[in-house]
Amino acid sequence: MPSIHRSAVHPSAADGGAAGAVAGTVGRLVEADRETRQLQVAVLGSTGSIGTSTLEVIAASRGRLCPFLLAAHRSVGPLLEQARSCRPRWVAVVDPAAASQIGPAALPVGTRLAVGPDALDELVRAPEIDRVVSAIVGAAGLRSTWAALEAGKTVALANKETLVMAGPLVTRLAERTGGAIVPVDSEHSAIHQALRCGTPSEVLRIVLTASGGPFRTRPRETLADVTPAEALKHPTWSMGPKITIDSATMMNKALELIEARWLFGLPAAKLAVLVHPQSIVHSMVEFVDGSVIAQMSPPDMRLPIQYALRHPHREECPTRRFDFTRPLALEFEPPDPERFPAVRLGHQAADRGGTCGAVLNAANEQAVGGFLEGRLRFTDIADVCARVLDEHPFQPDPSLDEVRRLDAWARQEVVKWASA
Ligand code: NAD
Ligand code: MG
Repeated sequence: MPSIHRSAVHPSAADGGAAGAVAGTVGRLVEADRETRQLQVAVLGSTGSIGTSTLEVIAASRGRLCPFLLAAHRSVGPLLEQARSCRPRWVAVVDPAAASQIGPAALPVGTRLAVGPDALDELVRAPEIDRVVSAIVGAAGLRSTWAALEAGKTVALANKETLVMAGPLVTRLAERTGGAIVPVDSEHSAIHQALRCGTPSEVLRIVLTASGGPFRTRPRETLADVTPAEALKHPTWSMGPKITIDSATMMNKALELIEARWLFGLPAAKLAVLVHPQSIVHSMVEFVDGSVIAQMSPPDMRLPIQYALRHPHREECPTRRFDFTRPLALEFEPPDPERFPAVRLGHQAADRGGTCGAVLNAANEQAVGGFLEGRLRFTDIADVCARVLDEHPFQPDPSLDEVRRLDAWARQEVVKWASA
């Protein structure tokens, strides 16, 4: 069985288990977490869905977590409100035009303002920061996550695009600098938790669960007519608009397959997807003896966020609990490849590696934008992604510059396809 020791995040290694190959990388994390001192947290994308849930986790932490830096793109009003309520040392606004609306008296005393992407990349390296929550949406999240790992930080990673685009580069970077990645994505958090039940060589397979989104049972021939308003209504999760559309097409699961491939260092053949409409079992690990360990909790991102910030400790969390006095039914079914062709693209890209993740991610981001603006049909999203993925000039081991170049190329291809 191929080794999963290489991963900077394998929890057996973090717990000092058999996966000692990366002990240097994760050892620092364990030591830091054993300390009882307050952890200073940078929240990148603080005004978004994950960002606001992170601030709730921090507020409920009874002082164990403290916001050091809050960063957003251009939503200055919500950012200032957050700054007034939790008084971080810094706020960062990436869009300079939006930042220019902030008057000198707008920030609370003791909070300073940084402007622009370079300033953010510099700030995340600050020695005071113990944890970086990477919750910017899309490819835009890669650069600040990269900067944090380059500075050897422990990153609670919600921005799956970082690993989808540049998995091998990012994991090598973390190994080199002593940085660590703990997943926030609920599926990967579940896997991270379940992997603690065995050693890497005992893992047979990882099963990512998927809600199936709002169109799980909708007749296939009507999917081309889906409107953005219909696709933005998720049955079980409340999330930002981009990932909500990705859940409706199941492209989110495609991206998560690629994320899992690099995060856990497993080949694509050992990754499977199962539709589970209740979103209670967040993912499962099957071990060689036939045991399947699943992580269950009501669907609420505050739990995986807190787990990523406080791992390896478990503490009270402000989430809903199960009421086991009431019936609880759990269903599982294989995804329908006809209705959800995106899942196959995820398997393909996870299997081939190289530039596939970056190209699929960029094509999808562009196509989702086109769909939300009414220029593409719902079913065009997977179709155009398949086309761009097939036709791209594949490179097995790209540099970061090549990843960026192909990201731009893929977006252009979608624009051309949409206007043809
Ligand atoms: P969102 O759209 O709600 O929020 C995005 C945040 O990123 C905002 O704060 C925005 O200001 C910021 N941002 C956007 N563009 C930026 C840029 N160029 N520079 C700096 N900041 C920028 O998104 P979300 O749903 O919170 O998702 C964030 C990330 O977490 C995504 O990668 C998503 O795939 C992942 N994720 C989200 C969920 C969820 O429940 N929402 C679950 C798992 C993973
Ligand atoms: Mg997820």
